[in-house]
Amino acid sequence: MGRTYPAHEIAQLTKGEGEVIWADGCLAILKALLESGVAYLGGYPGAPVSNLTDAFLDAEETVLKPMGIFVANNVNEASAAAMLRLSVNAPIRGAVAWKVVGTNVAADALAHVCSSGVKGGVVIFVGEDYGASSTLVVQKTLPYGYNFGAPVLDPKADLNHVAHLTRIAFDLSEACQMPVFFLVRTRVGNMKSWLRVKNNRHLTYSLHAPLTELPKSPDRFPIPPFTQQQESEKWHERIPKAKKFIRENGINERYDNGGRKGIIVHGLLFNLALRALLRLGEVEFAQPELATASALSDPSPSHIHSPFATRHSLPSSPVPRPPSQFAFGIPLLSLHALFPLVEDELAEFLDGKDEVLVVEEGEPALLEREIRAIAQKIGWTGRIVRGEYLPTTGELTTDDLVKGFSEFLGNSGSALRVDSFPFEPPTRNAQPETHRLPIVPRFPNFCTGCPERPAVLTAVKIFRDLHPEVRLEIVLDIGCYIMGIYYLRELTSPVTGMGTCLASSLATSFLTQERTLYVVGDGTFWAQALTTSISNALYHRQNCVVLILENFWTAMTGHQPNPSTKVGERAGNLDIEATLKGMGAKWVKVVNPYEVGEVIRLLEEAWSLTDIGPRFLIARGECMLERSRRERKEREQQVQAGQRVAEAHFGVDPLVCAGDHSCLHYNNCPSLTVRLSPNPLKRDLIVQAEQTCVACGLCGSVAHAAKLCPSFYRIEWVRNPSWWERWQFKLRRWLIGV
Ligand code: SF4
Ligand code: SF4
Repeated sequence: MGRTYPAHEIAQLTKGEGEVIWADGCLAILKALLESGVAYLGGYPGAPVSNLTDAFLDAEETVLKPMGIFVANNVNEASAAAMLRLSVNAPIRGAVAWKVVGTNVAADALAHVCSSGVKGGVVIFVGEDYGASSTLVVQKTLPYGYNFGAPVLDPKADLNHVAHLTRIAFDLSEACQMPVFFLVRTRVGNMKSWLRVKNNRHLTYSLHAPLTELPKSPDRFPIPPFTQQQESEKWHERIPKAKKFIRENGINERYDNGGRKGIIVHGLLFNLALRALLRLGEVEFAQPELATASALSDPSPSHIHSPFATRHSLPSSPVPRPPSQFAFGIPLLSLHALFPLVEDELAEFLDGKDEVLVVEEGEPALLEREIRAIAQKIGWTGRIVRGEYLPTTGELTTDDLVKGFSEFLGNSGSALRVDSFPFEPPTRNAQPETHRLPIVPRFPNFCTGCPERPAVLTAVKIFRDLHPEVRLEIVLDIGCYIMGIYYLRELTSPVTGMGTCLASSLATSFLTQERTLYVVGDGTFWAQALTTSISNALYHRQNCVVLILENFWTAMTGHQPNPSTKVGERAGNLDIEATLKGMGAKWVKVVNPYEVGEVIRLLEEAWSLTDIGPRFLIARGECMLERSRRERKEREQQVQAGQRVAEAHFGVDPLVCAGDHSCLHYNNCPSLTVRLSPNPLKRDLIVQAEQTCVACGLCGSVAHAAKLCPSFYRIEWVRNPSWWERWQFKLRRWLIGV
């Protein structure tokens, strides 16, 4: 989930040499970008770098534009990657960000940029959320580094290291003339800590001082015969230059006091290995009193006050970090440049050792294979191990490493020296009683009042109940609405990637009797669905119904704006309804998603029109999370100003509710729950709407459309009422009393 950076955090971006700021990983990266002289920024949101997109956008007006930096809110990763072409032609630095699967979308443009090579430094920040908190498919960026010949950097969970590596990434990019991938793991992107910063760099070329003429070099054009030359350059000149730079700048860290066994880790796994080795007594802090939890990759240590808890102020005293604080009992090589590996560095580390454990997360294990290849090339006779001691798929945990290291080092388990661990998180026993209660498993659900739920779940369920004869295949694209798979399981088909899911059902539409209901949000519509799915369906006159959820925000990644957003200077440039009509769509309707009866009527109408190609139903309603945040603030301001403010609430009459729970089945709102009936003769649990209800109106609409009981009522809570309302209220109370 993305976040909004308050003004006092953004203001820290203007601080200079030697000052200390409090930041999360993404804000630290943005500060390092300003220190690196980056002139343009872009990308497409996705965890865990959606915070970086948020930081770009939140700082755009107050910091970035005044510095002359151009910020693009790209509609997808391909457009962000293609924008990097400026750095092919000009000595101008640029950076973009997307999540790991976004590289699939960007791959074509990136392949061309990487073939041409760059003059200005280019860094691509990739949200590498491998593991439990992962995106839809499990994937790693490293294979792309090999494929494109682009260096891959992987920082440890330490903000000063993240910022240092960001700055150095641009120098590396210019030294080897290749874009550089920079991996941002979830813990790195979200960890919060102190950061000592440098001066922001003045830009030679910027919004205030544009480059007069763009240099053109035909030999940079990625078409034959130049591509043959570029390939040779890439592997015979650029990669060797990258290796030289990596070695000379000490990007990989070696802790080696001698020993017959060694460990090789990468990126964030350094922090996990550190924890594990601490527990095994194989590492000690040189200055234990300075050891902090952040050094151990704990993003929110309990003893450090976090300003993000209050969001109004910064902590007063920074915790100092020594430059080198670890003394390892076993040789350890921490790789932060995963591609290319530097043969000389590896050879020096392997020299004199009998056995080396490669701690690499997931498959394909390219590091392990490359290290084996280098070992064979240099004639090293020792043994390289990995799968013998550690899981080869899935996210590695500290416990995995403790077990694996213990076996590798020949410890019995009794060798664990937990007492040497300088920072112990609170034990379970120290937690409140409620924290030890089991967590009830549940499916993720749409937010209270979400406009997508009525269209995706309620209308579809009622439509299905009314028309069992329709052979329905629901194809959900990527967005909040993908949660529909948990509630419509037997009707949904697998996802094939951002914006491609309607195209995935083209052959299905012709070779089966199933009829496709394709569900897509506005962000995904503009990102990819328009060109890949919609144009394909219109061209083939695919017999399908397309339900477009226009909620005006890219909600799933934290409410970044997209071309449908109605605020900001780009608002109104693009319109879904006009676009579809302009493309020749024959049936395009707009509906209020909370009017369930009308949604169902239009679905029935769309279904009856089988020979006009795709039919488009736009369910238009703003994302409730974004809308509530804005309206809550506005309401409070009005109340403070003494204005009359009416706030609606829904409720269930406990004496009418029969307890059959049909409303829960059709509605699924998390604000609806069950409780005991006040009527002792009714044994079934009745429904109640909790205080969190935002009165979207769906309850009443469902009760009407699905012909349910009339238990639901709507009330208005009036603040600063008029004298007439006060008088009416008193009169009513008196009459009820009588
Ligand atoms: S973030 Fe917005 S669109 Fe997504 S589930 Fe919540 S209310 Fe619905
Ligand atoms: S009216 Fe009903 S559906 Fe809407 S927020 Fe309240 S409880 Fe949820």
